[in-house]
Amino acid sequence: MDCLFCKISDKSVPSTAVYEDGELYAFRDISPQAPTHILVIPKTHVSTVNDLTEANAALIGKLVLKARDIAREEGIADQGYRLVMNCNEGAGQTVFHVHLHLLGGRAMNWPPG
Ligand code: 5GP
Ligand code: ZN
Repeated sequence: MDCLFCKISDKSVPSTAVYEDGELYAFRDISPQAPTHILVIPKTHVSTVNDLTEANAALIGKLVLKARDIAREEGIADQGYRLVMNCNEGAGQTVFHVHLHLLGGRAMNWPPG
């Protein structure tokens, strides 16, 4: 399958790793929108949030908890951070492999532009 984030998770495309286990991979965004901008992805391919099923519930829970842990390690947990999952083009999704953005290290205005 021609999926950029599958290639990043199997290391055929290089990235700056932040965390990895058997199910998840976290790496730095190539075009950071904040001092900390990390993407946390499941290693298994799911295109969008719309395609998630009950069978993915534990995996998505782990994705959020890992982002929480990384926020602590990055030193932004107390200040605050934003977790974002864009679903489909209208929301700005450009890579069709589910990913959680972890953004922080600056004041995060709301709503985003
Ligand atoms: P989306 O817009 O789909 O929610 O987020 C995709 C994110 O992937 C963007 O923030 C973009 O900067 C990042 N991205 C796109 N291509 C690459 C790449 O080759 N390497 C890394 N590390 N990030 C990428
Ligand atoms: Zn994929």
